[in-house]
Amino acid sequence: MHFNNSWHDELAGFYTALNPTPLKNPRLLYHSAPLARELGLDESWFTADKTAIWSGAQQLPGMQPLAQVYSGHQFGVWAGQLGDGRGILLGEQQLDDGRKMDWHLKGAGLTPYSRMGDGRAVLRSSLREFLASEAMHHLGIPTSRALTVVTSDEPVQRETTERGAMLLRVAESHARFGHFEHFFYAQQPEKVRQLADYLIRHHWPHLQEEQDRYLLWFRDVVRRTARLIAQWQSVGFAHGVMNTDNMSVLGITLDYGPYGFLDDYKPDFICNHSDYQGRYSFDNQPVVGLWNLNRLAHALSGLLDTAQLKQALAEYEPELMQCWGDRMRAKLGLLTQDKDDNNILTGLLSLMTKEGSDYTLTFRMLCDTEQQQSRSPLRDEFIDREAFDSWYNIYRQRLLQEESDDATRQQKMKQVNPAVVLRNYLAQQAIEQAEQDDVSVLARLHQALIRPFDDAPEFADLMRRPPDWGKKLEVSCSS
Ligand code: AMP
Ligand code: MG
Repeated sequence: MHFNNSWHDELAGFYTALNPTPLKNPRLLYHSAPLARELGLDESWFTADKTAIWSGAQQLPGMQPLAQVYSGHQFGVWAGQLGDGRGILLGEQQLDDGRKMDWHLKGAGLTPYSRMGDGRAVLRSSLREFLASEAMHHLGIPTSRALTVVTSDEPVQRETTERGAMLLRVAESHARFGHFEHFFYAQQPEKVRQLADYLIRHHWPHLQEEQDRYLLWFRDVVRRTARLIAQWQSVGFAHGVMNTDNMSVLGITLDYGPYGFLDDYKPDFICNHSDYQGRYSFDNQPVVGLWNLNRLAHALSGLLDTAQLKQALAEYEPELMQCWGDRMRAKLGLLTQDKDDNNILTGLLSLMTKEGSDYTLTFRMLCDTEQQQSRSPLRDEFIDREAFDSWYNIYRQRLLQEESDDATRQQKMKQVNPAVVLRNYLAQQAIEQAEQDDVSVLARLHQALIRPFDDAPEFADLMRRPPDWGKKLEVSCSS
């Protein structure tokens, strides 16, 4: 395995070099075997004698640990300097296919950017991030990944005393909108340019020789962000803390905190209990994505003129609508495009809103539709049968018009409508067991999330609607 750290070598002034602070009595609790394989690590890396690597006590050759500095807008307000307050970028693994992967250890102790925090992460939030990043990746959505979770006997004070933990996460880059904002507001335009050059060199190398490379690059950032949020909306994922410091320049999902997957379809769902105004509610995410891109555009105003910035930002909405439309059409099993498709979709979504239908299960059950049958497999799920029947008639006519066969359509629909998503209560059950050092529930949930589109009878219990207590669960936002 080969490591270096280009952020360290090429971006002096963008970080503080420092080592992680080990936890008391760390133990490797769990790791992602599929990710390990992708990174070229065999199982011998995850035995008890390797704990020092995963708990930050031992570095691998070539690593150069550092904490990055960034700033950001939080809940719409300029928050000034933030930075890695509890995460340390250990180094970048050079993969055989030419890609590089940041290895970032979260919960690694105090840094110069810890502000009032203790530099730690608790086991509960580390497992929530682990599970969510695995779930999102296997749903096909760009995300940071999680390799290992270490638990410990270190007491960490939140609402109650919890166990300190560390999560090793990997991502192609941890560059955030907030990195650009930091140097823009510090009036260091040469550093804004230096960071853009660095990112283009490493992640958009085909643009390096282009004269209008900054414009081409920013347009791509806009489009990636649009596509990411379209994908979140299509699977019912609410991020919960879309501050600009949590927004990836590469368009990957970053910084899982009080996120939530929809149970009942509620467009105004707020997963973050500290979000009193609902700024980051589920249906606000597309608008917030654009607001955040506007903050990034402002920070890039030394590189691009106003007309160029506006030109790039104008691509956001059409890209998002296109990507979202494609995804939702696929969820409905429509193979072609028709001008009335949007009515079919909004018709179903408004019925689901009225009845509080389960978002995941409704679309999964819709997969079993047989176009010759005037009775839908979903009919009994709705109280207002009349309203449902009239929607279903229109939908069925639309399917008949496509002349596709049921088996092909059903199979395609099942590849885009997951049977299992990471419901809050499922994560909670896995966490409660793992806090007792028993990872069996966690491992089983992980196995199910790795193949979310399969009809796997052995995981039938993970595919049901949540019990009433599971819907009402208030997950603590502290992490
Ligand atoms: P987040 O909301 O987790 O993305 O964090 C926002 C900012 O607060 C980032 O700069 C974090 O590094 C920092 N932060 C969050 N929790 C802690 C903690 N326990 N100790 C130090 N810094 C923290
Ligand atoms: Mg963050």
